[in-house]
Formats: sequence, structure tokens, C-alpha cells
Amino acid sequence: MAQRSLHRILPAVAVSDGAGVKLLRSLGHTREARLDPFLMLDCFYSDNPDDYLAGFPAHPHRGFETVTYMLEGHMLHEDHLGNRGELKSGGAQWMSCGRGIIHSEMPRQESGRMRGFQLWINLPAREKMKPASYRDLAPDMIPEIPLADGGLARIIAGTFLHEESATCGPVNGISRNPLFFDIRLPAGSRFSHPLAPTSHAFLYPYQGSLIVDPDGSAASLRAHQAGILGKGDAVSVLATEPSGFLVLAADPIGEPIVQYGPFVMNTAEEIDQAITDYRNNTLV
Ligand code: FE
Repeated sequence: MAQRSLHRILPAVAVSDGAGVKLLRSLGHTREARLDPFLMLDCFYSDNPDDYLAGFPAHPHRGFETVTYMLEGHMLHEDHLGNRGELKSGGAQWMSCGRGIIHSEMPRQESGRMRGFQLWINLPAREKMKPASYRDLAPDMIPEIPLADGGLARIIAGTFLHEESATCGPVNGISRNPLFFDIRLPAGSRFSHPLAPTSHAFLYPYQGSLIVDPDGSAASLRAHQAGILGKGDAVSVLATEPSGFLVLAADPIGEPIVQYGPFVMNTAEEIDQAITDYRNNTLV
């Protein structure tokens, strides 16, 4: 297998979003800092309630998908479709905004640690105006596969291949074939997995540090750096300390992107239409 090397590092930058939630943004910090079809990755990580209590009050989206994955903490999702999802430690939600959704994500804790991610994945033109849909993935719906040396893989999306067996995550069979794994490794342990050669892929260590392609180009990647991988059909890493990291891969879309805040479309006219629809209460 051709191992993918580390092609580019996007460091996470401290930003504030929603009603003032403090985040680390890697992908999506600038328009150039994207990896088709991934638009944005935010990591929230704080023990200080002042950093997260304001939450994300009601706001719209159109044209892409949002994936929220909680490592620790408790948030409540509510949307205009009447969905209500308790997002707890180890759980996730996969929301396809399509033509429009209006939702809120508010903390359900007043103290303690809040740690997790929000990922934005673009939709192709033919799916941007489909009806919105929402999937709440409770922690026990996410398969956990023990790895060697006490490591662990959690499978949020895609098919995980390990020791002759294949484990499907709860999100499967959607366009762009996304893989979303959360991998925990003890120091000195290795992890390898095949990746479709056509996919765009990146790693995000949220804890510890990794050597990417340890038997080849051997580049190091530290916590809160998004490591965009080059071409190849597999990824391999070595943890140099106890580490946790996301593995994300998906097929690129290859269409123009025009973004205005929470709306991501193909043309400026479509953005104008989204703003008009939102003003006229016809977004959703
Ligand atoms: Fe949102």
C-alpha cells in the first residue's frame, strides 16, 4: 500500500463563534484553509463555563452538513423540524442542512469540562436544496473497537477494517463516502488504515502527538494541528505519547464554493437567494 505522507499542516486558531463560545478553528479559518469537501473543523475544549455557556442560539444553515461529536459534556440540539437531541459525552449528531435548517445548540451543564468538535462537510449542487434531515447518534450507537496495546477506535462514519473484520459506523452509504474515526493510542503504539485513493483525508490530534508515515517521510503532527494527507491508499501513524486523534476522509466534490456565514452554495446568486429566503422566513 502507498502510505500517505503529511502534505500540509493547518494549525488551529483561537476564535469565538455563536453567542461567544471560544473555539479552536483549523479547517475553515480562512477560505484557503479547506479540504474539499471539508469546509471547517472547530474544536471546543474548556473547563471554564465562561467559554461555552453562551452556546449557539437559533441560527440558520443552507447547503452543507454539520457533524457535532462530543468527547465530554452535554449540549441540547433543537431545530425547526421538531428534533430534540441530547448530545452527551461520546455521542454525535449528523445534520444534513440541505435547503435550510434553523437550530440551536445550547449547553446543558453549568460547570465542568466541555470538549468536542463541529465539522462542516459540503454538499454537491444536486443535494444542496434537498429537505433537511437530522440524525442523533447516542454514545452506544457508535461502535468501539479495541486496538493493540490498549488503544481504541470509535467509528462514527464509514467502515473500519481491523484484523479481517469490517465494522460499519452508524453513518454509512451517504454521498462522498465519509470516514470519521476517533482513535486513541498509548505512547509507542501504531495505527494504520486503508483510505480510498480518490479521497481527501486529514488527521486532527486533539491530544498527544503523532508521527505520520513513520516508515517513510516520518513527519510529526502535534495536538490541534490539522494534518492534510497527500496521495496514497493508506494512512499510518505512530503515537509518540498517549494520543487521541480524528481520522477524516471523503470524496471531493470539485464545484465552486461561495460561502456567506452559515450559507454555503455554488454561486453568489444562490447566496443572495438564501439571505432573501431567510429574511422572508422561506429558508426552510
Ligand atoms: Fe449550527
